[in-house]
Amino acid sequence: MHPRSHIHKARQREGGGFPPGDMLDIPTVQRAAPSKAGLVDPFGRHVTYLRVSVTDRCDFRCVYCMAEDMQFLPKRDLLTLEELDRISSAFVDRGVKRLRLTGGEPLVRRNLMQLVRRLSRHLETGALQELTLTTNGSQLAKFAGELADCGVRRINVSLDTMDPDRFRRITRRGDFATVMDGVRAAQAAGIRIKLNAVALKGVNEDELSEMVRWSHGQGMDLTLIETMPLGEIDEDRTDRYLPLSVVRERLSQEFTLSDLPERTGGPARYVSVSETGGKLGFITPMTHNFCEGCNRVRLTCTGTLFMCLGQEDAADLRSVMRSSESDETLHRAIDAAIARKPKGHDFVIDRATSRPSVSRHMSVTGG
Ligand code: SAM
Ligand code: SF4
Repeated sequence: MHPRSHIHKARQREGGGFPPGDMLDIPTVQRAAPSKAGLVDPFGRHVTYLRVSVTDRCDFRCVYCMAEDMQFLPKRDLLTLEELDRISSAFVDRGVKRLRLTGGEPLVRRNLMQLVRRLSRHLETGALQELTLTTNGSQLAKFAGELADCGVRRINVSLDTMDPDRFRRITRRGDFATVMDGVRAAQAAGIRIKLNAVALKGVNEDELSEMVRWSHGQGMDLTLIETMPLGEIDEDRTDRYLPLSVVRERLSQEFTLSDLPERTGGPARYVSVSETGGKLGFITPMTHNFCEGCNRVRLTCTGTLFMCLGQEDAADLRSVMRSSESDETLHRAIDAAIARKPKGHDFVIDRATSRPSVSRHMSVTGG
């Protein structure tokens, strides 16, 4: 039995299900037994990783991610928590082993913990190997203990700078000290943290080596990310685009970096840093094509499934799901979507291409 089973069951007895406002009036028992066939795309890639954007809303407005006056979706368009659980669980039935909740800022979604708790049943059965999330850390101090209780073992926290003033300028409204409190609370709860930092020319490039030292010193891995051309923002991304090939070259003047064989099925490549003993990741969609080993798909908070972060093609799972109480049609729609998973993305950042390659923001598809 999973060590958390007793907690989970006790909570269910206490009424740990979804709050009434979030429930769809669908009796779960009527759903047909789903097909258990794994999800394999036309290029032979097994889809075992689902990212779920639980909201497009966020309490920050990071300059590379959104415009200051970002228009969010009307709340009525969002999937309910039960619907998010239903679609996510359908993917787990089909062999998805890792589930990452993201957004927008996942921890600002009302009652998110109810969803995390529900999804944790798949950890208990062993169907799911990992339930995790990507967060800006602003609400982490409040939720770290409960996340750990639900079986969340590691999370990604986005942090682009160690300087509080710079942090405020990049996020436009974030508070560095609050995020640090969140990081400490998560560590105290036994959750491992990986920091993600977007490398931004003229913004944080001068402190990346310090961030390597600091994060590794605190027992956290660090992954650097290149800006991706997703959605209109207030500035020209070309001005801030910093190729990680350049960053790696600079860091290797100071550190001994050794390639690690590790692959996550995602765009990250890892090195070990001899001087710190930590691990450093590079997410290089612009300088390195990572698509050949892609194992993931992304569900938006409105139930749209994107088979590739960098392409427009998508499948509407919300209307399919709502059209039937049985999961059969949902599974057929998932199969049809996976059969259309493209070979790769077509990201371009250059001065001749003024429009983003993909019109939707990262906060919609989920980073
Ligand atoms: N709000 C949460 C956070 O910031 O961690 C989760 C969602 S956020 C969209 C996920 C990740 O995407 C963050 O690490 C963020 O830095 C990154 N991101 C957002 N827009 C991006 C862009 N245009 N290019 C590269 N990374 C981006
Ligand atoms: Fe919000 Fe994350 Fe986008 Fe920053 S990167 S605005 S925290 S969704």
